[in-house]
This record gives sequence, structure tokens and C-alpha cells, in this order.
Amino acid sequence: MINLRNIPAIDEVLALPMMRDILKQYNRDFIISNLRQAVEDCRHEIRLTGGEFKKEELTLKIIDRLEILIKTSCRGTLQKVINGTGVVLHTNLGRAPLGDRALEYVNDIGKNYNNLEFDLENGERGSRYQHVEELLITLTGAEAGLVVNNNAAAVLLGLTSIAQAKEVIVSRGQLVEIGGAFRIPEVMKQSGARLVEVGTTNKTYISDYAQAITENTALLFYAHTSNYKIVGFTEEVMLAELVKLGQDMKIPVMHDLGSGILANMGEWGLKDEPTVRESVKSGADIITFSGDKLLGGPQAGIIVGQERYISLMKKNQLTRALRVDKLIIAALEGTLLEYLSGDYLHDIPVLKMLTSSLEHLHEQAERLKNDLDARLGDISAVEEIRVIKTEDMIGGGAYPTYKLPGYGVQIALAGKQLETLSKQLRGMNPALLTRKQENKMLISVRTLLAGDDALLVEMVYKALQNMEPEGNQPGGKK
Ligand SMILES: *Cc1c(COP(=O)(O)O)cnc(C)c1O
Repeated sequence: MINLRNIPAIDEVLALPMMRDILKQYNRDFIISNLRQAVEDCRHEIRLTGGEFKKEELTLKIIDRLEILIKTSCRGTLQKVINGTGVVLHTNLGRAPLGDRALEYVNDIGKNYNNLEFDLENGERGSRYQHVEELLITLTGAEAGLVVNNNAAAVLLGLTSIAQAKEVIVSRGQLVEIGGAFRIPEVMKQSGARLVEVGTTNKTYISDYAQAITENTALLFYAHTSNYKIVGFTEEVMLAELVKLGQDMKIPVMHDLGSGILANMGEWGLKDEPTVRESVKSGADIITFSGDKLLGGPQAGIIVGQERYISLMKKNQLTRALRVDKLIIAALEGTLLEYLSGDYLHDIPVLKMLTSSLEHLHEQAERLKNDLDARLGDISAVEEIRVIKTEDMIGGGAYPTYKLPGYGVQIALAGKQLETLSKQLRGMNPALLTRKQENKMLISVRTLLAGDDALLVEMVYKALQNMEPEGNQPGGKK
């Protein structure tokens, strides 16, 4: 016979002297909803175990449980993840981790008043966009610049400002979809511009564009197909050719560059990737790109180009809805300044990861292997730990065809324990994401940040210990 009668009522618990501190510290409704949960958990436990408890015992049990629930909820859900996947720009993992200078700016601007929209020299209203515009002009060679929420917003704003109710010509080879449902044709529809498709998936000639031009054509659109490559029997118009046509016909060219590379990365295997400066030099009138891809900054949509088009966009009401917060401007300014005066290949985390030498990655993997060996020595599930070569990647949305040779540590486990270990590691805070290869766990060292190595060793140790068959914490299962 199960006895649930001794479970105290919510009001009874709330009235207890020992609840005073908790009530002072947390929101009352938050406590009550967690208390209900704690009582429910306790009832469940009694049903399961059939235990007999006195009311005082149950009350203590409920309060213990309440404290755990409250602590867990107060942690929030957004948390640090250690990236052992070797994918540098992982959209699901927040894309580019920020550098120190960007974070110092965020901290300083975030906790103080600032001159976001105040012109300190003249003592009057200023523009939030002035802060990064000069930097963008210097770094890209463009006439003017503007920053909005993300690149999708930048493309939308460009189309709406220049081509609403008019025609935009795009090659069928460039009708891209970027992860997270950014589809050029859909964005066109949203903007009120009419899409005119030319050419075929694998071949588009400059004459295709020329023949499609009418008096309603407002824009020639050129998208960088960053997340796929059409190979084989192909023909693509060069940006410079399209610009020439645009200039002859007095129609502007908008270049959706995707991942705005500011530095020349050819030496590190990115030689096919045009930099923003090259796009400006080719004569594109409007260029849009993301702040959090290869630029290595916060999420933002950056637009650079000719003054007259940028000022059209600044005046568009839509810009108000797409405007960026001070924290983004601070992080972006901090990042852009690295390109101007810093050791950007070292201090912008994404660029550091991309330019790490093989020797350096090899050494790091050796060190990690040795640390894991030492820590996991007496765990029976571990069969082998070794350093192996990896194929790292630039990123989910961007450049799937680029493979970066790297190094990592492979952990082989006895039996079918790999899934359990991965799940354990994902459930920790911070969490650890790894790769699976040939039924072994693979941790790529390229995407580990400072301090991650040591944390990771302890995490793997703890997770494996939890999984040991003779695990010594009967209550610690979950
Ligand atoms: C990534 C990408 C986008 C979308 O950029 P967001 O900043 O994620 O909005 C648009 N176009 C191209 C070509 C891209 O590579």
C-alpha cells in the first residue's frame, strides 16, 4: 500500500521558516511552479519505490529537490560548447567566436552610456552607422558602407531600395539557398522586385543577361555560390564582364558575396575566394556580406558600395527595422580594427584556426593525446587513443568543397559505448561536440579554443567514469 498522505501541501511548505531565504532570493511565481514540480517528483518517487516517509522527511526531500530545480533553471539554456568537430564556421554553434578586442568593446559599450547616436564634436544627434563606415571604406576601398542585421537583410534592403516593382536579372546558376532558408528567389519576392532568370543551371553567357534587359530592369544581381560548386560542363559570367554590361546599359550590379573576406587568404588555400576589396575593384556597385563568416565578427549584414546607392538604403524605412544594436556595432568595430592595426591572422579566432600550421596542429594533437592517456589510463572501456590526420572544414553554410588537412585525437571504445559517451558529453555544461569516424570518437584540434584542451580531458574522464559498469553513484544515473 503506497502512502501519499504525508506529502505536504504547497502552502505549508511556503510557510516554513526554512523557505525564507529562498523566498527572498527568487521570484515567488518561479518558486511555486518549481515547488509543484518538486512535489510531483517526490510523489513519483514514492510510487516507484513504495517507500514510507514521515511528513518531515518528505518536506526536506521536497525542499532539496526544489533547490536543485531552481539552480538548474537559473542557468539559462544558452551555454558554452567546445567544438571538437573541426568545422570552423558552424552555423548551429554560433558561427564565428569573437576575438578579445571585440569582446572588450562589447563590455565597455554595453555597461556604459556611449555615443551611439551622438556627435560628440558638435554636440548634436549623430548616426549609429558612422562608427564603422569609415573603417569599412578604408578596408574595402568602397565609397560608403552600412550595417544591418545579417546578410539576408542586406540583400533584402538592397533589392527593396533599388529594384522594388522593377526587374532584377539573375543567372539560374546562382539561385542559391543558404542554410536556414535564405533563398534568393524568396528574398526577391519579399522585396517586391521581379526576378528575371537567365541562362541554365550550368551555363550562363553575358549575352543571356544582355538579351533580358528591358526598360524595367533596375539591377543585375550576382550571387557568390559559396555553398556549392557547379563543376564539369559549365560557363559562368565573370563579375567584371557583368559590371561592363551594367555600365554600358547604366544598370547597377549588386554582388552578394556571402562570406566577406577582408584579408587575402590565398596562401591558406582560399585562393578562389574573392575578397571584398577585389569585388569593389571589379566595379560592383553594391556588395553585401556577413559579419560572422570569414570576417570573424558578430552576426551582421555589411553593405559597401557607391555612395548614391548606400544613401538610398540609409533613407529606406526598412533600415529602421533591420538596424543593429550597439553591442553588434561594438563587436564589429572591435573586429574591424584588428584588420587595421592588429595581428588579425592571430587575434581573430576564425582566421587563427584557418591559418594554423600543420606542425602546430600535430603538436597540439600529440599533447592532447598524452593528457588523455594519462587521465584515462585506468578506464577499462578505452581501447585505444591515437593521433590521426583529419579533414577539417571551413563551414556549414560556406565552402563545403574546401577540406583543410588537420590533426585530431581518435578514441576507440570497447563495445557499443560511443553513442552513450557522445550523449554524456553533449549533456554537460560546457558541452563537447565531437565527430564520429569508423565508429570511433574523433576530436579535431583546429577548432579548440584556449583552455578547451584541459577542460575536455576532464569531461571525457568524468563521462567515462559515469558509464563504468560498477559506477559508484547509484543516484547519479541519468
Ligand atoms: C551566408 C550567405 C547568405 C546569408 O547570410 P546571413 O548573414 O546568414 O544572413 C546570403 N548569401 C550568401 C551567398 C551566403 O553565403
